Amino acid sequence: MRILVVEDDRNLARQMAEALTAHHYAVDLAHDGEEGQFLGDTESYDAVILDLGLPVIDGVAVLTDWRRNDRRMPVLVLTVRDRWHEKVAAFDAGADDYVVKPFHLEELLARLRALIRRASGHTSSTLVCGPLSIDLGNSKVSLDGAPVVLTAHEYKLLAYLAHHRGRPVSRSELIEHIYSQDFDRDSNTIEVFVRRVRKKIGAEFIRTTRGLGYQLVCEPEPGAE
Ligand code: CA
Repeated sequence: MRILVVEDDRNLARQMAEALTAHHYAVDLAHDGEEGQFLGDTESYDAVILDLGLPVIDGVAVLTDWRRNDRRMPVLVLTVRDRWHEKVAAFDAGADDYVVKPFHLEELLARLRALIRRASGHTSSTLVCGPLSIDLGNSKVSLDGAPVVLTAHEYKLLAYLAHHRGRPVSRSELIEHIYSQDFDRDSNTIEVFVRRVRKKIGAEFIRTTRGLGYQLVCEPEPGAE
């Protein structure tokens, strides 16, 4: 899952980026409204954390522009206590949730998880796919109740496929959603990660559809791929 954080307080932005990275998100940072607006318009994100008080272009204007351009990613806004009118304006502009500063990072992370899973049509914070279980809260995966140890990138790949398991996901979409912008994106690494995850959970759980991509299959036929 890839997140855009638009926050001019660099210290807070760094804290959020560190927490998100530790929870296996790919993170892009923007420190003013103009840069944030551009990234949100041109890159693919699973969710955005948008401060409302921003230099150059304010948060509500950024959000209004995204929604006008039909950018549909879930947006969580950061507001300051007592600015209720700002909150109302943000919801009217298309915000999905908000957190009031100062906040606990754990609350921000929980709200973000909820936004991302709702956006992909899931109601529980544990994604269950046949014998496979992915706990989004602590990034733990199990198979038939036994823990599966994945690296950060392997987890990101599996979590993205699990969120979108109703359809095949192309390699380029995976690249866009598991790497941050400044990462050296090599599409061959996706195949490597798929191979490793298959080795750990069973090859039959990730189906390759030629020309379309990879799909997580919850009830695979034994021996299928
Ligand atoms: Ca601010």
